This record gives sequence, C-alpha cells and structure tokens, in this order.
Amino acid sequence: MKIRTRYAPSPTGKMHVGNLRSALYEFLIARHAGGDFMLRIEDTDQERFVEGATEIIYRTLQTAGLIHDEGPDKDGGFGPYVQSERMQTGIYMKYAKELVDKGEAYYCFCDKERLASLKTEIMEGKEITVYDKHCLSLTREEVEKNLAEGKPYVIRQNNPREGETTFHDELYGDITVKNEELDDMILIKSDGYPTYNFANVIDDHTMHITHVVRGNEYLSSSPKYTRLYEAFGWEVPTYVHLPLITDENHKKLSKRSGHSSFEDLTEQGFLPEAVVNYIALLGWSPEDNREIFSLDELIRDFDYHRISKSPAVFDMVKLRWMNGEYVKAMDFDIFYAQAEPYLKQTLTKGQDLKKIAQMVKTRIEVFPDIPSLVDFFEELPEYDAAMYAHKKMKTTTESALGVLKDVLPILTEQEDYSNDALYQALLKYVEEKGVKNGYVMWPIRTAVSGKQMTPAGATEIMEILGKEESLARIQKGITLLEQTQ
Ligand code: GLU
Repeated sequence: MKIRTRYAPSPTGKMHVGNLRSALYEFLIARHAGGDFMLRIEDTDQERFVEGATEIIYRTLQTAGLIHDEGPDKDGGFGPYVQSERMQTGIYMKYAKELVDKGEAYYCFCDKERLASLKTEIMEGKEITVYDKHCLSLTREEVEKNLAEGKPYVIRQNNPREGETTFHDELYGDITVKNEELDDMILIKSDGYPTYNFANVIDDHTMHITHVVRGNEYLSSSPKYTRLYEAFGWEVPTYVHLPLITDENHKKLSKRSGHSSFEDLTEQGFLPEAVVNYIALLGWSPEDNREIFSLDELIRDFDYHRISKSPAVFDMVKLRWMNGEYVKAMDFDIFYAQAEPYLKQTLTKGQDLKKIAQMVKTRIEVFPDIPSLVDFFEELPEYDAAMYAHKKMKTTTESALGVLKDVLPILTEQEDYSNDALYQALLKYVEEKGVKNGYVMWPIRTAVSGKQMTPAGATEIMEILGKEESLARIQKGITLLEQTQ
C-alpha cells in the first residue's frame, strides 16, 4: 500500500511551530517511504477563517521546503482539496445520510434554548455539554415532517451508551474509553457545513490517507473518529499524536512568547533550514546524537517510531546555536548578500564590508546580531579604563599605558596598514620586550575597539580602520589611561 500523508491546516492565521512540526513529520513520513504528501485546506469553520491565512500556508510550506505532491494547486486525482469546495460536491451529506440509514447517526432539531438547558460537564478542562439523545427517539415520520417544514437541524453521531472503544496510537499505544463518555458529536452543522470532526474522517478515507499526524489535543476526539471509521467499515489510519510543545517555563507556546510561528522566527533572522532542522528535533531524535540535518538527511533518517511522547521544550538558546551552525556553513557570497543590509545599518563610512563580513560570519548566531557586533568600526564607544586590566593577559592599566605609549611611534612610522604588516611590526616589539603577545595586543585591541569582545584581533581591526583612525583611537586610550593613573 502506498504511504499517503496529509497536512490539513485550518486557515486561521500564522503557521505555528506545532503546525509546522505536524507538516514536517507528515512530509518526512511520506518522502522517507516514497509516498505522497498532500495539502488539504480545512476551512469548514467559517467563523475562524482569516483573510490571507491560506497564502501564509503556501508561503510557509514553500520556504520551509515542504513541497506537497497534491493540493489545491496540484491535482493528484483526489480533489477538490479545499473542504468548502468538497462540501459543494455533496460528499459529506452523502456519507452522513449513509450513517443515518445505518442507525449510526440521527437528525437533531433541538433549538439553542433546549441545548442550553442540558447539563454541562467538565472534561479535560473543557466544558462539554453532553447531548441527551432526545431526538434519537423521533420516528421516521416525525423527522420527515420536520425536514419538509424546513426546520433547522444538525446531524449527530449515534454513539452507544454501553461498551468500550479502543484505538491505537503509535506513541501512546492502545487507548480504551467507555462509550458512555462519548458525546453524540455533530457531524453536519445547521449551516450545512460538516464539522472538522466529521470532515477529517471522510476526507482522510476518501483521499486514501494512511498516516495521520497531529497534535495530541486531538487524542480525546480519536475514539469518536474511530467509531466513525468502524461504522462505515473503513480501515482506521495510523495515528501519530504529537506531544505538546512548551516554552522554557513548560507553558504552552503562546503568541506572546514572540516565537510561536514560523514567520515570527524568520522575521527575527532565523534561517528557514535551521528552523526546520530544529523543529524536526522537537519530539524526534535519531539513533545517534546527531543534531544537524539537512532536509534530505531528515528524509533519509526520519523514523516516526522514534518520536517521544514527553513534552518538547522550545529552547531559544538551542535554536540560536543551531542557526549559528548554519550561518558558519553558508557559502560566503550567499552569506554576504544577507549580511550586507545589517552591516549597513551601522557602517556608513565606506569600510571594507566584505572583510568585516568575513570576521563576523563565524561569530554570529542570527543576522540581527551583526549591527551591535560591528558598530565600533563606525565610532569608538565610550568605555571604561578598567577594561585594560586583564588577568589572563597579565595586563594592568599601568602596563597598558606603557605599551600604548611605546607602540604609538611604531604605528605612526608604519606605512603599510595591512593586517600582516602591522602584525609583524608589533611582533618585533613583543620580542624586543620579551613579553607575551596578549600583553601587547590586548591593550591595543581595547584602544581601537573600546570593546571587551570583538569579531577580530587588534591588527585586523586596524587594517579596517586605517592609519589615521587607528592612531587617533590609541591616542584617546593614552589620554584615558593617563587620567586614571
Ligand atoms: N485542521 C486541523 C487543524 O488545523 C487539522 C487537524 C488534523 O490534522 O487532523 O488543527
């Protein structure tokens, strides 16, 4: 049997990390097995529909590289691929009526007031009004009469009150629930639209879906879906319900966290490949402890049996690290094209941006780290004289003043301000003095950058700054140190 998976988003806004993970795992399961990955738009809940959300879905899948084989824009013979269009074909009503004929579903004409008077139960933190099967007792004639009169109705699933329903999930194993806990959920709403609960079963079956991956918030509905499959005599697909993704505080990822959607992350400068790689590991791990995977490598190695059911923590520090690994591995020209606008944010004096880009490439995690890393090339920041004292380099403010005074004439005489030439000139001084490199280089680097951490060493920085600016900064350092002596 050909493996067929689907990503079935509802167009309700941005694409959340949890949705992207479902899409990715569906994609990987299909690709790994040489199967088909399908996109289906679930827009039956017209109230939640958000303008532009479908475009976000296409854009996100495209950017993330999760290319679907079938979907609204790519017919694969199982269309239509948008639920509102499927509804127009009458497919949901046809199957709902089939269930009515089998006694597995029934028409319900209860009005709002009556439904409101039904008792409400709290199930899994949600308020659920369990329908009391009032309309199940209507005779066929009464139903016909109501329909002929045009009375509004819904069609409900008819779940037995006795017995149990068992279904299997790949992560959670066999789950059994008592049928008395199963509400007679609505299959067809009064506006004629199917509910998601009904449509997903009809669609997954008629579109030959073999594996259903979704968040574990759907676990509690799965017995009802399973009963629908059984009522039709259809095979139940393989269920994979994914664990919750939490933030660092073990709370559900929320919009407020600022990194809950794919577009939030790419807007913050994360690379799509790094985000996809990171998301793959939110619940799944390979046999070895490898962490960096291209999409092709994920396709090769992904095995859904290795998904863990413990909650996955979205760790920003880890994602930043991973992004940094991708930045390091980037081809320089591609890196430069993306880095240039960030460099230009702070550098306006015609500095050698390519050279600076080379310095920062291995030192940033995300592109927006660039401006604050290179701003000292534009202007020497205010800094504290205490920065000259460094334990490991064995420097003090006093020794630093001595060094700066010594090297000022050397650097004034020096004509060639290339990194190599500067380095040789200073090395000569180091050797004459019989001191360690850092004893000399630390004060110089401090003077020319005004920073504790820089993306390059003293001589590389001076090469970029040029002679005049370098000397001015060293002179400034001398003045600052003299004031503090
Ligand atoms: N339309 C549902 C959602 O966006 C899909 C759930 C499923 O994959 O079955 O949450």
